[in-house]
Amino acid sequence: MTQELVLDPADQDPADPEIGPAGHPAAHPSLRVVADPVLSDPAGVDLEAAERAAAEFLAAFGIDLSREELRETPGRMARAYAELFDRQPFRLTTFPNDEGYDELVLGRAIPFRTICEHHLLPFAGTAHVGYLPGDRILGLSKLARVVGHFAARPQTQERLTRQVADCLEENLSPRGVGVVLEAEHTCMTLRGARALGSTTVTSALTGTLRSDARSRAEFLALAGVVPR
Ligand code: ZN
Repeated sequence: MTQELVLDPADQDPADPEIGPAGHPAAHPSLRVVADPVLSDPAGVDLEAAERAAAEFLAAFGIDLSREELRETPGRMARAYAELFDRQPFRLTTFPNDEGYDELVLGRAIPFRTICEHHLLPFAGTAHVGYLPGDRILGLSKLARVVGHFAARPQTQERLTRQVADCLEENLSPRGVGVVLEAEHTCMTLRGARALGSTTVTSALTGTLRSDARSRAEFLALAGVVPR
């Protein structure tokens, strides 16, 4: 993965020496990149081509796009997918763990939505993302930002789970990472098996959260995955 520092405009704060003024991020070894610069480039989206393709796709099903209500539908389809795949660059801000906090940090029930790469239909649910801090702790909102970042691509739930865990592992060097995703896949609930109401649960555990039974149980209990 290319390592390149990217700034989220919303995170820029000239008064914060860790973040630095816009366009001039302070060099800091803990500020690593979570973005694929090519994929995160909005200029890479050809909305007109997407709109033409959407019109052809709908026409192939005999859908009459000359009706006034549907005339703008291909453009709306293109913009809807552009929004779903809009991967905003952001900065994985970390802070020194000066007070030596060594218990679990958990972001629970972080909502996410993404697109299954097999059918291009949405799957959506909640993510529980936790870690046991090492030398650094993460800005709390970043747990949700990491999930959103990797969700903005056609995905499988298994890969999304792993990518979130790997990202925290690589950038935070914690003592352990735990990620549990619970989602409803519309490709399975609204078509195919039509298993309406079913959910899929995936998990990725690393370090102490994987190797130590007590830590693992605590993470799963706090995440609400198993009764405490
Ligand atoms: Zn699918």
